[in-house]
Amino acid sequence: MATRLLQSRNLLHNLRCFTRPLSSASASSSFTAVSPLNFTQKPEQQPPTATTAKPNSIFDIYDHQKLFALLSTSKLLRAAFNLHLAAIEPMVDLGTWVMNSRIMEVELTRDVVLGTVKHTFYEHFCAGESAAEAGKCIGKMNEAGLRAMLVYAVEHTNNKSECHQNLQGFLQTVQSVKSLPPSSVSFVIVKISAICPMSLLERVSDLLRWQQKDPSFNLPWKLNTFPIFSDCSPLYHTQQKPQPLTPEEETELQLGHDRLLKLCQECQDANVPLAVDAEDTLIQPAIDYMTYSSAILYNKHGNKPTVYNTMQAYLKDAKERLFLASKEAEKMKVPMGFKLVRGAYMSSETKFASSLGCESPIHNTIQDTHDCYNDCASFMLEQIANGSGAVVLATHNVESGQLAAAKAKELGINKENQKLEFAQLYGMSEALSFGLSNAGFNVSKYMPYGPVDMIIPYLLRRAEENRGFLSASNLDRQLMRKELNRRLKAAIF
Ligand SMILES: Cc1cc2nc3c(=O)[nH]c(=O)nc-3n(C[C@H](O)[C@H](O)[C@H](O)COP(=O)(O)OP(=O)(O)OC[C@H]3O[C@@H](n4cnc5c(N)ncnc54)[C@H](O)[C@@H]3O)c2cc1C
Repeated sequence: MATRLLQSRNLLHNLRCFTRPLSSASASSSFTAVSPLNFTQKPEQQPPTATTAKPNSIFDIYDHQKLFALLSTSKLLRAAFNLHLAAIEPMVDLGTWVMNSRIMEVELTRDVVLGTVKHTFYEHFCAGESAAEAGKCIGKMNEAGLRAMLVYAVEHTNNKSECHQNLQGFLQTVQSVKSLPPSSVSFVIVKISAICPMSLLERVSDLLRWQQKDPSFNLPWKLNTFPIFSDCSPLYHTQQKPQPLTPEEETELQLGHDRLLKLCQECQDANVPLAVDAEDTLIQPAIDYMTYSSAILYNKHGNKPTVYNTMQAYLKDAKERLFLASKEAEKMKVPMGFKLVRGAYMSSETKFASSLGCESPIHNTIQDTHDCYNDCASFMLEQIANGSGAVVLATHNVESGQLAAAKAKELGINKENQKLEFAQLYGMSEALSFGLSNAGFNVSKYMPYGPVDMIIPYLLRRAEENRGFLSASNLDRQLMRKELNRRLKAAIF
């Protein structure tokens, strides 16, 4: 108990240190286009638009002619059409309803729906049906100065043989990287719930949570890991003391772990890092556990990390968990990489917590999420400047991009430093991607590939994210419209 109190006090002290340099950094930051890194002064944030966002910032994202120079008019028209469609809320609701309805159980209607999806959202957000198709798409992206995070887009399963099959898909993805131009692929992505059964990830998460509540609770199978929880992590998912893993479950966990290690080994051999996606909090403790224990084996002192975990800044405990894991990694001399995102499971998280009568694990306001993201980004940039850690700043938020770019410049972190990567989803935020790339940073697109039906859950999350005319794609839609107008005028006059 006493050690725990002491740890909490140390943590509080360290967290103060965590945020202090951000404010001072802001004071010396020279750009004023967006709010500086001073989180005591919180501006009313609005989605950036081509008219409200200020152009005198560290990179220019408003030159639509330059931005879309590589896109043919027909492609540009199609992209604008798809993004507009995704912004119409009733369309998104209808699409979500259809995907979850019995229409998808009848072969004929299912084929019609999948055919329509393929020629609209799928073409916009996905790199192709196979690794070979994705390779062609990556080639074009690379010519335009961007890299790829290659995603075999299989999602969670509860079936053991599917886990094995999915691993083969991930291994083939790594193999395909070897035949592509060097460094055109910045990362291979994996979802742990595709290689380890969901029900087991829930059981392991329950057991890890119970150990957090009661440190004397013994987990004989537990390997060396970084901290998974902080003192403020919500533990409501586990209401009763869980039964220990059965021998069969222990074997299954070992198999899941072996699959992840095999993938780490392949990535290390192919010289491409592996980033583990974050999923929902029900299973996230098990994902963190497996990722950190693999990173301890594969991330070697003095090198760029092979294994990256993902931190979701919309979670109230994200900042503390990032800090604790980073500091432990540093102490153990394990270079640790993080992909920093805001988080894509907001509605399911909130629904699940409220079904148990518990407070949502998500920040109370979007501004809190923005602040948390920017604080975590700033912390990781400081870590890189100090020689430890690596980060992928995965965001479509222009202000976060501006703040991080300014801070990176200030700290002297540039393209040569392979430990900083910016990333956006394929089909989203072209303006931000090219703006950052033109400003001299490494930028990647997260490029999922696979058959249309496999990618539906991913597409539904994108539809949710782009719904509404104030969504992340607002800026892209405006710039595309301007460029189409310009081309039309140029053709007429
Ligand atoms: C390269 C890449 C990899 C990704 N990998 C993952 C991953 O592994 N796991 C994952 O979950 N997501 C992942 N995402 C998706 C990512 O979480 C979403 O794209 C992201 O949430 C959209 O946020 P943004 O940073 O673009 O900013 P914005 O569009 O400015 O912010 C929107 C986000 O803010 C948060 N938010 C919205 N309203 C509120 C509110 N009322 N209160 C609190 N928070 C709010 C939500 O997270 C919402 O998505 C990835 C994205 C990219 C670009």
